[in-house]
Amino acid sequence: MNDPQPIRRAIYPGSFDPITNGHLDVAVRATRLFDEVVLAITQNQRKTPFLSIDERVQLATEAVEAIQPRKRIRVVSFSGLLVDFARTIQAHAVVRGLRAVSDFEFEFQLALMNRRLAPEIEMIFLMPRDQYVFLSSNIVREIHRLGGDVSEFVPAVVLRALNQQRQTENRSLS
Ligand code: ADP
Repeated sequence: MNDPQPIRRAIYPGSFDPITNGHLDVAVRATRLFDEVVLAITQNQRKTPFLSIDERVQLATEAVEAIQPRKRIRVVSFSGLLVDFARTIQAHAVVRGLRAVSDFEFEFQLALMNRRLAPEIEMIFLMPRDQYVFLSSNIVREIHRLGGDVSEFVPAVVLRALNQQRQTENRSLS
């Protein structure tokens, strides 16, 4: 009898602080290439994150549940070296998003280093749809903080969380 086909699994790592529609777009594209996409939220940021790791995981989980093919995207958190975690979950590839040329240099350096550390894991870059090319978690946080409308760039759960956070901040200021 033939062995069952192994599951093709990719890891999509990042800080997702918070998850945006650009991130979701890349994750969904990755499901077209892999059986399972593990959206892995890193705990090792040097700078203090805007949202806690639990909040980021919860928002990403809810955002993924609201889209298709939700069952093939799994949200987890991790700490330590990406390649170590990728090996632990038996990922075949690391997926990263490429927006503008400005992402390229950093991503290229990171990819080459990761490949050196784990030559058996492929690095794959996917481009989001045009309207998300200029989108980053950072820009979303900044626009929202200044009172701008970010509803077209983030899932509904994230918009609610951002609004709640702003209300709490306003209350503590008044
Ligand atoms: P950011 O750069 O937005 O703070 P992350 O560290 O969470 O984001 O990013 C995780 C991965 O997702 C990175 O490869 C990043 O380039 C990619 N990414 C983030 N936003 C987008 C987007 N709008 N379109 C495509 N890829 C994106």
